[in-house]
Amino acid sequence: MSATIIDGKQIAADLKESIRQEVESRIEKGLRRPGLAVVLVGDDPASAVYVNSKRKSCEAAGFVSKAFIKPTTMTQDELFALIDELNADDEIDGILVQLPLPEHINGDEVIERILPEKDVDGFHPYNVGRLALRMPLLRSCTPKGIMTMLEKTGIDLVGQDAVIIGQSNIVGRPMALELLAARCTITVCHSRTKDLEDKVKGADIVVAAVGIPNFVPGSWVKEGAIVIDVGINRLDNGKLVGDVDFHTAAEKASWITPVPGGVGPMTVATLLENTLESAKMRD
Ligand code: NAP
Repeated sequence: MSATIIDGKQIAADLKESIRQEVESRIEKGLRRPGLAVVLVGDDPASAVYVNSKRKSCEAAGFVSKAFIKPTTMTQDELFALIDELNADDEIDGILVQLPLPEHINGDEVIERILPEKDVDGFHPYNVGRLALRMPLLRSCTPKGIMTMLEKTGIDLVGQDAVIIGQSNIVGRPMALELLAARCTITVCHSRTKDLEDKVKGADIVVAAVGIPNFVPGSWVKEGAIVIDVGINRLDNGKLVGDVDFHTAAEKASWITPVPGGVGPMTVATLLENTLESAKMRD
């Protein structure tokens, strides 16, 4: 293996520790603790694991943490009423509604119901629009966490050719906006993209957010490229793998993120970072 691992777990632990210290110094100055409300509707086991991990991280950082676990039968109006309550709650700086939501609830409308200044996931059209216009406020956690990881490599991103595989609202699109703002030249690929292999082969930076295990083989990776693997895929044998075939890609890449221990922990740490930022904006 020639690539250096971008250790998301360690970078996230450092970020969380610096957030914890900042919260402590806020308390010493008589300022309030940042507060995060996490809402889970339904009984998706993966979502329950994510919510639990976000809650634990919040508590470890000294945040006020409120969790609302609701049955699948919750109506959209009931969810709106809860969001309205949290929008008005002065203890709460961030509201996170865990996705995916049950089918009878419109996720886009739910995201728009959250006050943009409490949208710590960075999914609200207002926050995505601000990022698009290069005046970011609250930025989507996964792409922002990836930018933090890229900064840690010390590599100058200006002028690099970046290929993003995936165009979802929560990863691919905001990732493209982040890399464009960092002055990369970006290509966004999806299931209808022609000659994907050739596009990836030309990339200095590859971000894979597809949701298909080992989708990108090492043979597609340019010598010396930076490879960021967003995918989280559980195999039948219980093993967790990314969207990139790690071992073959690591032979070619200069830097690579592992799964697990790469982008995933950064997403949670960035959520705390955003909640603290929101608290500071609302002081
Ligand atoms: P998504 O909404 O399902 O989007 C997947 C994207 O991949 C779509 O844009 C789709 O194209 C594209 N795609 C599918 N098959 C393709 C193919 N054969 N060739 C090229 N593109 C293809 O997924 P997501 O929410 O963005 O998540 C992607 C992965 O990241 C999942 O494994 C998810 O679990 C993981 N994830 C991880 C984190 C983290 O913190 N690490 C956070 C969020 C998501 P179309 O648009 O054309 O359908």
